[in-house]
Amino acid sequence: MNSTSSPLSGQLALVTGASRGIGAAIALRLAADGAQVACVATSKENAQSVADACAALTPGARAFGVDVSDTAAVAELVKEIASSMDVGQPAGPHILVNNAGITRDQILMRMSEEDFDRVLDVNLKGAWNFIKACTRALMKNGGRVVNITSVVGITGNAGQANYAASKAGLIGLTLSVAKELASRGVCANAIAPGFIETDMTASLDDKARSELAAGIPLARMGAPEDIAGAVAYLAGPGGAYITGQTLVVDGGLSV
Ligand code: NAP
Repeated sequence: MNSTSSPLSGQLALVTGASRGIGAAIALRLAADGAQVACVATSKENAQSVADACAALTPGARAFGVDVSDTAAVAELVKEIASSMDVGQPAGPHILVNNAGITRDQILMRMSEEDFDRVLDVNLKGAWNFIKACTRALMKNGGRVVNITSVVGITGNAGQANYAASKAGLIGLTLSVAKELASRGVCANAIAPGFIETDMTASLDDKARSELAAGIPLARMGAPEDIAGAVAYLAGPGGAYITGQTLVVDGGLSV
């Protein structure tokens, strides 16, 4: 696919949580659009098969492992990615997608401090770690940041105080990055998925699934590719004049 007419040709895209689910679909879509993709998961082994599939679409994709909540390790990893993945343009990344995320659901009275802190550390601080480490390259490249938040970051959700707080925080982080880096040509946006078919929602039984679908105007759970399409739009030429927005991709759930 690596033709110069591909919308993201010559760009380096870094996608966290790229081993499965939404992140894998995003990595594959950006590769299909011509980007060389750095696929990041908790281990290189976990991200390898998606990186291989991306490389079949646009050569040069590679797998990396890091705990996104580890500030020093993320800074080292971003240096390694920029120096080892040459796209023939100023050193990347040009596109940063903060997608890695976890849930540790529990009602407030039973939620442990550890579970609150861990979800904030991975979902919110993890995104801040990557943005901070990539800021110089993004400014040089007039790059794009896409943070994957959630509709529950807008609405809140019983049993998800930690997760909803982390996702609401991501929206505030996105707005601040958009304002701070706009003068350098960087666009930063968030995407808020509704219910998407991935490992994260795999524990829902059939009854819960059909009840959920009944509450969604488009009458189905989303597919990871539904989110990947929105990321590709914001990262591509169509997103050049969009910044500081949260795009809800939920089949109308929140309407
Ligand atoms: P998933 O299938 O559970 O995949 C999670 C991904 O994050 C995996 O690649 C995992 O890597 C990675 N990850 C988790 N903790 C990490 C850490 N500490 N360091 C590095 N990587 C880490 O999740 P998903 O459903 O695709 O969700 C992706 C994003 O969309 C998340 O931010 C989630 O909150 C958001 N979202 C999902 C839904 C939904 O309905 N699924 C709805 C709204 C928002 P390993 O494979 O190595 O563990």
